[in-house]
Amino acid sequence: MSLHSRNDIYAVMSDEEFRAQARAFIEANYPDIPRFSQKRLHFSQSKPWYMALARKGWVAPAWPVEHGGMGLSATKQLIWIEENERFGAARINDIGPVMLGPLLIQFGTDAQKAQFLPKILSGEHIWAQGYSEPNAGSDLAAVRTEAVLDGDEWVINGQKTWATLGNDANWIFILARTDKSVKKQAGISFILVPMDLPGVTVRPIENLEMHDEFCEVFFDDVRVPRENLVGAVNQGWTMAKALLGHERVFIGAPRLSSSALARLDLLARKVGVADDPAFQDRFTRLRLDVADLTALFETYIEKLRHGEAIGADVSIMKIFQSELYQRISEEMMAIGGATAALLEPFEHDPRLHAAGTYLMARPTTIFGGSNEVLRNVLARMVLDLPA
Ligand SMILES: Cc1cc2nc3c(=O)[nH]c(=O)nc-3n(C[C@H](O)[C@H](O)[C@H](O)COP(=O)(O)OP(=O)(O)OC[C@H]3O[C@@H](n4cnc5c(N)ncnc54)[C@H](O)[C@@H]3O)c2cc1C
Repeated sequence: MSLHSRNDIYAVMSDEEFRAQARAFIEANYPDIPRFSQKRLHFSQSKPWYMALARKGWVAPAWPVEHGGMGLSATKQLIWIEENERFGAARINDIGPVMLGPLLIQFGTDAQKAQFLPKILSGEHIWAQGYSEPNAGSDLAAVRTEAVLDGDEWVINGQKTWATLGNDANWIFILARTDKSVKKQAGISFILVPMDLPGVTVRPIENLEMHDEFCEVFFDDVRVPRENLVGAVNQGWTMAKALLGHERVFIGAPRLSSSALARLDLLARKVGVADDPAFQDRFTRLRLDVADLTALFETYIEKLRHGEAIGADVSIMKIFQSELYQRISEEMMAIGGATAALLEPFEHDPRLHAAGTYLMARPTTIFGGSNEVLRNVLARMVLDLPA
């Protein structure tokens, strides 16, 4: 049976049938790698899981079937997330499936789709996101990494920073300045760069947990073919915004909050506060907020599935999810008592690791656009308030 016809099956399968299949698949195929990890695993560890998903054709649940995705409805995408979280499956290196793939499906040429999409699905290409620079974070349009056309090649010079798992990636997509003479947003292009080229240097950065989860990436006269440009020259800002829309839907998914809520529940039973009325009151508020977030997420997934543009209002979901995740992690710290201070999981159970969850939750209000900046976006673009 071809991949295409196999994937068509999900459209006619009932949600409960799909849940049973997803659960059985994860249980039967999850490799011998950590579960419920409170740190991002490197590709060297999580690769067997990526490959198991690749063999099954399940790397890209949200992509349309004709591009090798599963074409799942919003409800089935949620079920897939829930079953992964229930089992504690590791998060794969998902910048290709979650960010670049949807962008290429929307803006890539046929040749780019044919060249890159299958390699994301097979795990041959692992992508990093090269947007931020030392002086271009919130003010992303200030990027200074430069790409100059020389014959049929772009010559790239500059520095990117905070590239998540850039030390695992063999490709990076970057925003580069291709015209300095125009308004800053109008002089940026979106370019695909192999990371094994001469002139590319990757330097890992350790986070608060001493985990080398992100990297600086330097470009020194790096030459890539002209056709590695996605979209038109100087149209990179349009790509940047479209991709951030996908990123914010993904970061806004209830995945992190709902799994943290399950861990909070478990920890509460373990430390004996589950029946305490004051705790129950706080827990119920958090549970209802997770339910609200889940409903909101479904509305955005349906928009994406129907090819509708994601507007600036998607920022509300990213703000809601990240702050909810932090509130849940703070509640874990509050009830955890002495165990909350442990850098290693309580009773060696990663689900009871309050400090790990707390540290994982901290940066979520920063990446994908800081919440302060997204509140400004909502004020101006959605509520029409004065700047
Ligand atoms: C864990 C993690 C992973 C990341 N992964 C990637 C990645 O893979 N690729 C990538 O390109 N980038 C990545 N980033 C970078 C991320 O996108 C930036 O950190 C973020 O956009 C903020 O930029 P900055 O760090 O330069 O902070 P700044 O822009 O310097 O902001 C500093 C502070 O000032 C506030 N601020 C700034 N401007 C305003 C304003 N106008 N109004 C009000 N407040 C303001 C911000 O909210 C923030 O609190 C990652 C970041 C983290 C933490």
